[in-house]
Amino acid sequence: MLRRLREIPPTAGLPLEAADLLPHPDQLAAGLAAQLGTPQLQLECSGTAALLLALMTLRARAPGRDVVVAPAYTCPLVAIAVHCLGLRLRLCDTRPGHWDMDAHHLAQLCDQRTLAILPTHLAGLVADLGAPLALARDCGAFVVEDAAQALGAREDGRSVGLSGDAGFFSLAAGKGLSIYEGGLLVTRDAALREAFLATSASEVPTHPGWEWRRSLELLALAALYRPRGLGLAYGMALRRALRRGDPVAAVGDDFPARIPVHRVGRWRRGVGSRAALRLPAFLAANRQRALARLPRLRELPGVTVFGERPGTTASWPFLLLLMPDARRADAALARLWTAGLGVSRLFAHALPGYAYLADRVPRTPMPQAADFAARALTISNSAWLDDAAFERIIAVLARL
Ligand SMILES: *Cc1c(COP(=O)(O)O)cnc(C)c1O
Repeated sequence: MLRRLREIPPTAGLPLEAADLLPHPDQLAAGLAAQLGTPQLQLECSGTAALLLALMTLRARAPGRDVVVAPAYTCPLVAIAVHCLGLRLRLCDTRPGHWDMDAHHLAQLCDQRTLAILPTHLAGLVADLGAPLALARDCGAFVVEDAAQALGAREDGRSVGLSGDAGFFSLAAGKGLSIYEGGLLVTRDAALREAFLATSASEVPTHPGWEWRRSLELLALAALYRPRGLGLAYGMALRRALRRGDPVAAVGDDFPARIPVHRVGRWRRGVGSRAALRLPAFLAANRQRALARLPRLRELPGVTVFGERPGTTASWPFLLLLMPDARRADAALARLWTAGLGVSRLFAHALPGYAYLADRVPRTPMPQAADFAARALTISNSAWLDDAAFERIIAVLARL
């Protein structure tokens, strides 16, 4: 019974310590900028809020442009944010067997109405920015790097988020360093940085109600983010969602229509500041664990395991696998999703597959993204997934 209550989180979040919860001076954005070697980072209340402010600012600079191009396999919050701003979303299918945007499809989608292209560093792995950067330059669009899952990822030693015009990171629960909900906006362009700050100053209110709620949620996260507590907080909700046949809720992809935008309070900034001191060692240990496990997974016939491209360093929140077909992905999840071993799906569907987004996402089929969604699964890179538990996962996958 107790064993069943143990639950490994689906991603490697940085566990909080009791002393993090005491008041600390705010070093969150400045400390992370120093660690990552980026210019000043702008703290907002979520990754989505950071994206909203970035797109608002870019829209004011290019008023004739109202289309945002995003990969068809990404977080539903991206589609919700674009819709909230009254902008039009165009989806780019992924290249076969991958989540990067297909360069040929992307070229067809770019024109003088394109405001921004959103290449996405999924799974903490650095996306190939070659085509998005070149096509954006040709059509005059901006590139906003979605690095929500990739805080700490680097290309040629430089943090992600600095190759495009802007980038954003998420500090949501489960995405590495967390203040329950938070986001960071970055740009290498000093004038744009001033403009982002000005948008934030004029658009982002203090909202004591939201901040109270997030503070309580952060306390609950600190208390429950351990295998026993996650059995209660995550495992039970997961099993309930799967029992009623709701994979969207099981993955946590069911987001509300409105994106809260408010200032992050001092206490949460202090908690993040202290926890951030442990981030470099945490990322290094996660990377070592992931790189050690990739070869075991690569022995599985027909399974694709995604690793780092040469010159890049991933942040490794989880390992991303592509099964040979949807049937075997479903079979693996039937055995492993509720086994408490941190195996899950990254997203339940490609964006056109979410019924609740039907009014906000173009219905054009995205065959490659749909195929990727049907075949992909994730294995947690949490330190709580020990070698014995990892081998249990391998054994199940090998039997398929
Ligand atoms: C989580 C996520 C977001 C949104 O970040 P929040 O901090 O949760 O608002 C955007 N894009 C991707 C790829 C994500 O995984």
